[in-house]
Amino acid sequence: ATAQVGVVGLAVMGRNLARNFANHGHTVALYNRTQARTDDLIAAHGSDGNFVPATSVEEFVASLERPRRIILMVQAGAGTDASIDSLLPHLEEGDIVVDGGNANYEDTRVREEKLRARGLHFFGVGISGGEEGALNGPSIMPGGSKEGYAQIGPLLEDISAKYDGEPCCAYIGPDGAGHFVKMVHNGIEYADMQFIAEAYDVLRAAGLDTKAISDAFREWNTGDLDSFLIEITSEVLDQVDASTGKALVDVIKDAAGQKGTGRWTVQNALELGVPVNTIAESVFARSVSGHADLRAAGQAHLSGPDQKFTPDDVAALIEDVRQALWASKVIAYAQGLDLIRTGSLQYDWDIDVAEVAKIWRAGCIIRARLLERIRSEYAAGNLPTLLAAPSISEGLANAQNGWRRVVADATLAGVPVPGFASAVSYYDSVRAERLPASLIQGLRDFFGAHTYQRVDVEGTFHTEWSADRSETKEA
Ligand code: NDP
Repeated sequence: ATAQVGVVGLAVMGRNLARNFANHGHTVALYNRTQARTDDLIAAHGSDGNFVPATSVEEFVASLERPRRIILMVQAGAGTDASIDSLLPHLEEGDIVVDGGNANYEDTRVREEKLRARGLHFFGVGISGGEEGALNGPSIMPGGSKEGYAQIGPLLEDISAKYDGEPCCAYIGPDGAGHFVKMVHNGIEYADMQFIAEAYDVLRAAGLDTKAISDAFREWNTGDLDSFLIEITSEVLDQVDASTGKALVDVIKDAAGQKGTGRWTVQNALELGVPVNTIAESVFARSVSGHADLRAAGQAHLSGPDQKFTPDDVAALIEDVRQALWASKVIAYAQGLDLIRTGSLQYDWDIDVAEVAKIWRAGCIIRARLLERIRSEYAAGNLPTLLAAPSISEGLANAQNGWRRVVADATLAGVPVPGFASAVSYYDSVRAERLPASLIQGLRDFFGAHTYQRVDVEGTFHTEWSADRSETKEA
C-alpha cells in the first residue's frame, strides 16, 4: 500500500481534487465506476504527481495506507450509497470515508451512524469553490468524529484555500454538521446572487447600459462589497455573444435553475423556526423565473404603474444600489448564521460561528471581504445575531437611506426587488418595538380560542368572543 489518500468518483470535482492532492505531494489512489474517467485523468495528468489508478474497488482499497482515507466525489444520493456499499466489505476498523458531495445533512447523519457501528469514521464534508476551487484550493467544511479529524484534517487543510496563510478548512462538528453548514453556505449564495441580479435590474430599469452596469460592479469590487460573486458579475456582463454581437446576458433565457440546496436551507429553517426570509425569497425568485405559464398570464393580464424609473442623478442611484446590496447581503449572512447557530443547538454540534466565517473567507463561492469582519465580530463575543455587532449595526444604519430609496423607487416604478425588500423588512421587523403580532393573536383567539398573553399582567388569557366578550384567565 502506497497511497495516502484515495478519491472515488473522477468527474470534474473528483478529478480536480485528486490533482490538488497530487500537486501537494500526496500519493493519490484513483477509482471511478466507469474506468474511462480514470484512464483520462492518467492520460492528461498522470505525470503531474503520484497517482495509483485502480480498475477495481479491491485494488483501490489495497493501494491505500492504513487507516485508509477515502474521499467520495460521486453524484450525491444514490451514487454515494452505491459507492459506500461497494467499499464496505473491503474496509477495516479505523478507516475513514469522506463524502465530499452535496449530500443532505440528514442522509449524512444516517450514513455516519451506519459506518460508526462498523468501527469506521464517516465524514460529511461540504466542499465549495466549484471546479476551479477543487483544483486550486476550495473551502472545506468537515463534519464527523474529532478522532477521525485528527487523521483526515491535516490532508484536507493542506489542499484547502488559504486566507492570509490560514487554511479555509476547520473541524465543524459531529456527523451532519459539515453538510449542514455547506447547505447554509449555498442558501446564502442564492441570496447573494439574487441581490446582485436585483442591483443589475434596478440599474437597467434606470436606463444604464450593460457596460455601465458592469463598470459599477467592477468599482464596487474595490470596496466593502469586494467578493468573488461581484467580481464575476462584471465578467459575465462584459461577455459579448459571438453569434448576435449582443451582450451575452441579453440572450440568455431569464429562467434560473436550482439543484436543491437553497430549497433545503429554507425547508430546514422552517422546521427549526428560523426566519431566513431573504434566502426563501431568492429560492422563490428562481421559481418565479422558471414559471412560464404564470409569467405569460401575468404579462397578459397585469398592468404596471405609470411611473417610470428616471433618476436625475445616476451616480447617486448607483451609490444607493451599492448600499442596498451591501445591507441586504449583511441581512442574508445574519439569517444564514442564525440558522447554523440554531441547527447546532438542535443537534448538539457545538459549531463555532466565527470558525465558519473564517473558512468562508477564501475558496468558496460566497468568499467576500465582509467575512473577515463577521469572523472578528463573532470571535469577539457571543452574538445573539450578527446584526447586534457594533460595526455591523453601524454599517446598516449608514446604508439604510439608500437601501430604502432603492426599494421604494423600484417598487413605485414596478421593478421587482423581492430580496432587497425582504431584507429591509426583516431589518425593520427585528428592530420594531412593537409588531402587529398582537392583532394576529387576537384573531387566533377569536376563531380558535388559541389564547394570548398580555403586556401588563402575567398569565394566559381568552376573550369569550361568541358570548359576552369578557376576558377569562386560564388556570
Ligand atoms: P457528478 O455529480 O456529475 O457525478 C458524477 C460522478 O459520480 C461520476 O464519477 C460517476 O461515475 C459517479 N457516480 C454516479 N452514480 C454512481 C453510482 N451509482 N455508483 C458509483 N459512482 C457513481 O460529478 P461532479 O464532479 O460534478 O460532482 C461530484 C460531487 O460533488 C456531487 O455530489 C456534487 O454535488 C458535488 N459538488 C459539485 C460541485 C460542482 O461545482 N460541480 C461543487 C461542490 C460539490 P461514472 O463516471 O461511472 O458515471
